[in-house]
Amino acid sequence: MVAMPQQPGSVGIFGGTFDPLHLGHVAAADRARQSLGLTSVLIVVANDPWQKSPGRMVSPAVERLAMAKLGVEGHEGLEVCDFEVERGGPSYTIDTVEQLGEGGVVLPWLVVGADLAGTLDTWERADELRRLVRVAVVSRPGSPLRLPRGWRSVALESDELDISSTSIRRDVAQGVSVSGRVPEAIIRHIDEHGLYA
Ligand code: ATP
Ligand code: MG
Repeated sequence: MVAMPQQPGSVGIFGGTFDPLHLGHVAAADRARQSLGLTSVLIVVANDPWQKSPGRMVSPAVERLAMAKLGVEGHEGLEVCDFEVERGGPSYTIDTVEQLGEGGVVLPWLVVGADLAGTLDTWERADELRRLVRVAVVSRPGSPLRLPRGWRSVALESDELDISSTSIRRDVAQGVSVSGRVPEAIIRHIDEHGLYA
């Protein structure tokens, strides 16, 4: 968990619902960190993912945050950021970027999977966000790897792990093993807390 990243300046912001965090997320964050030479990638757990929450049940933020922390424990260069959960309410990336800016983080890389690259213009205060970040689009199965027009951006080819939190929730509910797709510590947490049953 971070108050502020240790060495501001070369930081990636990887936001999401993480319901739950899976190995596709870890691989994407690792790819961004290595390809861009980042000191750290912050896994930013959304409190209320407002573009998603009206359509479906989202697990409590504290559960998602706890799982994310378990998932990256001891993992070099990945840190879980609790700014959005602490702030409460709907989660806007621009607020997080501004909060990091107050701590000296300048022009962070916003890391997004290829499925989200085309949605950036719909994000809260997109015009401000566009000025404050660079975007790294990580490839993802099922989505074309395209750069968002009007945003400073790069495309990063990844190993393309075909994993989604949706498929993890569904498989847990059906009693199908998710071993090899989710960090083991998270699988234990899901079992112990009866999540997605
Ligand atoms: P859900 O199925 O609930 O939407 P998800 O697997 O898409 O879950 P999110 O929390 O929605 O996970 O996504 C957080 C970020 O991780 C997004 O930028 C998304 O594009 C990216 N991402 C998720 N899974 C992958 C993957 N397998 N490869 C690359 N990027 C991914
Ligand atoms: Mg998603």
